[in-house]
Amino acid sequence: MIHTEAPYYFRREDTSQTEAQFVAHCVAELEALIEREGADTIAAFIGEPILGTGGIVPPPTGYWDAIQAVLCKHDILLIADEVVTGFGRLGTMFGSDHYGLSPDIITIAKGLTSAYAPLSGSIIGDKIWKVLEQGTDENGPIGHGWTYSAHPIGAAAGVANLKLLDELDLVENAGKVGAYLKQAMSDALSAYPHVGEVRGEGLLCAIEFVQDKDSRTFFDPADKIGPQISANMLEQSKVIARAMPQGDILGFAPPFCLTTDEADEIVAATVKAVAAVFG
Ligand SMILES: *Cc1c(COP(=O)(O)O)cnc(C)c1O
Repeated sequence: MIHTEAPYYFRREDTSQTEAQFVAHCVAELEALIEREGADTIAAFIGEPILGTGGIVPPPTGYWDAIQAVLCKHDILLIADEVVTGFGRLGTMFGSDHYGLSPDIITIAKGLTSAYAPLSGSIIGDKIWKVLEQGTDENGPIGHGWTYSAHPIGAAAGVANLKLLDELDLVENAGKVGAYLKQAMSDALSAYPHVGEVRGEGLLCAIEFVQDKDSRTFFDPADKIGPQISANMLEQSKVIARAMPQGDILGFAPPFCLTTDEADEIVAATVKAVAAVFG
């Protein structure tokens, strides 16, 4: 597996780049990689619509349109890893809807059962499905199975979960309360000297802390700023925020039934912890 530039604008190497220039840089990096490797040797491009565990990072404006154009030109398949974004997280049923992606394959898991039961899967577009169908006629069925494939308990949990998403309008709520949470978090925290960025999309929100805002210098990881803030929130306010592994990043992925009052509670707990840790 070969990696190309991650669409992580805040951490761009050249801080003088605008978003549009950074997107052009990501495109140039991908073009150079394809050139180097040869398009025919590349089975697919896989990416999350929005980076999840990598720091909850929405792509810069125009990123996916520009990347899809490159993939299309070189006839390279697109796999959208929607394990986090699938089934409502961004306020749309899929992250691909949110960002206008036309993937050939979508991978799904967590949101399918809200993780109350283990279930995962892949959604395959017609283009690939036709090849599999034809191959089956010629060569017999594709050998792709697991002992617990299509397990009825996992499937029942998935169906029950998807019914609740519809009945309770949870996808719409995720979009609405998510936008509220991000705005409230940004209003409350953006002016703090060590808050480098407040970002998010739907019910994903993150704060990235910096030692110095103007020069965008980061803290020494040994100081464990992110883990200190998340520990303080849990102790003082019983609010779970995730100290993410890629930096001093505090990540939030609340349940889709979140209310605006609860969003306010999350923000208040964050402000309290930030004040306590930075003194
Ligand atoms: C959790 C996660 C996975 C792993 O899913 P499994 O069902 O545990 O294999 C894959 N992709 C993303 C984006 C995830 O967040």
